Amino acid sequence: MYGQKSAIIILSLALSITCGCASTSCRKDYKQTCFKTSPVNKDLTKEQGSKLKLIAINSASDVPSEYKNTPIEKLLQYHNLKRKLSPHKKPELLLGMCMDDRLQILLPKNFAYVIRTGGGNLRYNEFQISYAIAIGGITSIALVGHDDCGMVNLAAKKEKFINGLVNKAGWDKKSAEEHFAACSPMFELTDAVGFTFLEAKRLKAKYPKITVVPMLYKVEDNHLYLITE
Ligand SMILES: [Zn+2]
Repeated sequence: MYGQKSAIIILSLALSITCGCASTSCRKDYKQTCFKTSPVNKDLTKEQGSKLKLIAINSASDVPSEYKNTPIEKLLQYHNLKRKLSPHKKPELLLGMCMDDRLQILLPKNFAYVIRTGGGNLRYNEFQISYAIAIGGITSIALVGHDDCGMVNLAAKKEKFINGLVNKAGWDKKSAEEHFAACSPMFELTDAVGFTFLEAKRLKAKYPKITVVPMLYKVEDNHLYLITE
C-alpha cells in the first residue's frame, strides 16, 4: 500500500515539475527536466532564413526521390494531393506543428502522432517524441512551421498578452508579467522557416535513425512545402 502511495506522490511531483508552466516557474521547471539535455540552436536571422528554399509538392513526381515510399511521401500525398484517407494498421509518422487555428492537416486514422505547440517548437516535448519512437514505432518526423506565425516577434505582443490574461483569464497583472517574461523567450521565433529548419536539424542529431523533415505550411493555400538548403 505504502509503495503504491509513494509511487503516486512521486508521479504527481514529477508531473507538477514537468508540466508546471505558471508564473515564474516556467523556465526553471523545464530546465529541471529536459531542457538541459536539449541544446537549443540559435535562430537563423531573417536574412539567413530567406536563403532557404521551399519545394512545392503539386504532383506525385514533385516528391524528392529520397522520400519515395516513406511516411513523408504519404503525408504529402494525403495533404497536398488529397490521397484517400484510408486507415493505417499502425502509426508511421510523428507530426510536429504549430498550434495555430488556421492549420489543418489531412491525416488518416492510425497514421500519425501529432504534437502541436507554439511555432512547432518541440524543445520541450522530448519525452513525447521518444514515446512515439520507442513505443509507437514511428520512423519519421515531419516538423511543420508556417508563415504569419504568432510566435514570431512575441515581444511586440507583450501588452496584449498580459492584458488578455488579466481580463480574460482572471490573472493578476504581476503574475501575467512574470509569466510572459519567463516563458516568451523560450517560444519566441525570429523566422519561422529558419527556426523549423534548425529545429529539424536538432531533432535529427538527437534521434539519428529517424528521418526528420522540415516543412512550411502556407496559410494562403493550405499546402505543405519542403524546406531545404
Ligand atoms: Zn504559429
